Amino acid sequence: MSAAKGKSFTPVELLARLVAFDTTSSKNNLGLIAFVEDYLAGHGVASRRIVSDDGQKSSLYATIGPDDEGGVALSGHTDVVPVDGQTWTSNPFTLRSEGGKLYGRGSADMKGFIASALAAVPSYKARKLKKPIHLAFSYDEEIGCIGVRPMIAELGKDLPKPRMVIVGEPTSMQVVDAHKGPVRWQVDVKGRAAHSSMAHLGVNAVTYATRLIGELERMEQELKQRVIDIRFEPPYSTLQVTKIDGGTATNIVPVGCTFVFDIRALPGLDPDEIETRLRRFAEKRCLPEMHEIAPEADIRIERVNAVPPFGAERKSEVVALALKLTGQNETYGVSYGTEAGLFQEAGAPAVVCGPGDIAQAHTADEWIAESQIAKCMDFLDRLGDWAET
Ligand SMILES: [Zn+2]
Repeated sequence: MSAAKGKSFTPVELLARLVAFDTTSSKNNLGLIAFVEDYLAGHGVASRRIVSDDGQKSSLYATIGPDDEGGVALSGHTDVVPVDGQTWTSNPFTLRSEGGKLYGRGSADMKGFIASALAAVPSYKARKLKKPIHLAFSYDEEIGCIGVRPMIAELGKDLPKPRMVIVGEPTSMQVVDAHKGPVRWQVDVKGRAAHSSMAHLGVNAVTYATRLIGELERMEQELKQRVIDIRFEPPYSTLQVTKIDGGTATNIVPVGCTFVFDIRALPGLDPDEIETRLRRFAEKRCLPEMHEIAPEADIRIERVNAVPPFGAERKSEVVALALKLTGQNETYGVSYGTEAGLFQEAGAPAVVCGPGDIAQAHTADEWIAESQIAKCMDFLDRLGDWAET
């Protein structure tokens, strides 16, 4: 089905269309992108795809108003988390309305915001915008803010760079000016196998993994004491091992052990510092001993993903704008990662503000309140007023 030329949809109708595309991060999002492209074209808005290397996914960028730098970008991710293993009352990809709530995968996180932004397009087109309003829709956010990166790389080159970015993750339309940065590492410890009765001939990879984990635990304790930021729950950077796998059989000295650890860094914490300390510990306190028996023994520490922590500047223009548009005077911090830190790093100051409650994100029977969509539409309408001046 294509979007009829220039047809206006209500945000809820648009949300139903968007939810119907199963854009779980492991699948492609091209159906949804084609629908949005078509809808925008119907309203005279050209958009550009930023396609993934394998051609299976795409971001979409569009500008309404002066085809120029500056203005505000409305940023949202098109992918959703899997429904596998969850028990839903009804089909997660068919929007269901009941008692003022709209149920469906992605309704809160974050197709509700994308639907609202798209519903605002005809009104933006009808206005005489002096500042551009850009749409920046990404993919693969849920697996580590992957898809937005190539799009951000084009800002100021192939794509007009916004002066500010509003990331519409579900904040119940409150203004979020800081979040923690999730960073994840994988550690592979390689020892030497031997019959477990001949332990002295082997190098036990599990033993050395636990030694490294002990060092991580010391760092975890130190982080708890170090910087306290009461905007966050918990108010410190967290560090923990989240996965571990080692050994081959009960009577063999384990040759391999792999574990993954994760930090949720407060703004200001440098993840390099954690990594450098662990590397130094491996080089000084583990490898010399391991090499005495097995020269091939090794410890590999690899950063698998990093989303930078986000903290807006004290006098951030976009935070002030979001507060004005929402009519609020207080900002909040959250512990989940978003694309805001990446925009900020690229020189486009960001704020997080969007409809729906993060508590409903990723859950079975995910929902968004219709009243949140209405609030978001008011917000976007006032953004239109601002862009006309
Ligand atoms: Zn999200």
